[in-house]
Amino acid sequence: MTGHVDGNVLAGPLSELFRFDPTTASARCASCGDVSVLARAMVYVEDHGLIVRCCTCDDVLMIVVQEPEGSSIDLTGMSWLRVRRP
Ligand SMILES: [Zn+2]
Repeated sequence: MTGHVDGNVLAGPLSELFRFDPTTASARCASCGDVSVLARAMVYVEDHGLIVRCCTCDDVLMIVVQEPEGSSIDLTGMSWLRVRRP
């Protein structure tokens, strides 16, 4: 690795990643290693947001918080998220 570029280089790859139907994306649970589409996850609607749990081990995969100023997503429960091209 010889150097770096600024974060603007992410515009292309991330715009592709964030315009998909998220329920069809596959996620790997960081806790148990299960790989499933997000549509199979168990979602709990709480006052502060959506708690998304692994359908195999029940650990938290993702937390989605929607506030007037914007939305936040905590993905620390996933090893990765895979979006397939159509
Ligand atoms: Zn799991």
